Amino acid sequence: MKRGFYIGRFQPYHNGHQSVLERIATEADEIIIGVGSAQLSHTRDNPYTSGERVLMITRALSTLGCPFYVIPIEDVQRNALWAAHVRSMTPPFDCCYSSNPLVVRLFKEAGVEVQSPAMYERERHSGTEIRRRMLTSEPWEDLVPDAVTRVIREIDGVERLCQIAKDDQ
Ligand code: ATP
Ligand code: MG
Repeated sequence: MKRGFYIGRFQPYHNGHQSVLERIATEADEIIIGVGSAQLSHTRDNPYTSGERVLMITRALSTLGCPFYVIPIEDVQRNALWAAHVRSMTPPFDCCYSSNPLVVRLFKEAGVEVQSPAMYERERHSGTEIRRRMLTSEPWEDLVPDAVTRVIREIDGVERLCQIAKDDQ
């Protein structure tokens, strides 16, 4: 049984994440998806709650064809302990898939095998770009799975981001 681990903040979950997970699904028996910075929501860089992000991921992966677990993981204020913290919250896994340099470093130092998947059209497919488009009323829906568009609509997600991005002047 080979279990793969993938972590992100998923603010929001987008087609880049989806393409990486579809690839992992071809080589792993089960996938664990960690929803990082789980305690954060309602900020410009982290607008959505961990529960809302779990909903986006679970719905978008409903036809993945590989069993998966979605697990919220709160930050710890010590990077040196982070890999152990993650492992204390997740089913055991054999390999971590990440291209984030800090994540790669922390897992390698903890003795975990790490693979860095190629980026999928990174200029457009990034959470930062999607949040920017939401704030400037540019189209963003084609950068996320349809299921994610529906969740964001359901929770009034664009309006929330626009409102919290304003200051009180
Ligand atoms: P943000 O801009 O808010 O940081 P992000 O797009 O980088 O959002 P994260 O949730 O931070 O998304 O990233 C989760 C993981 O997905 C990271 O390992 C990141 O490198 C990876 N990732 C992000 N965008 C892509 C993409 N377009 N193709 C493949 N992997 C991606
Ligand atoms: Mg990122």
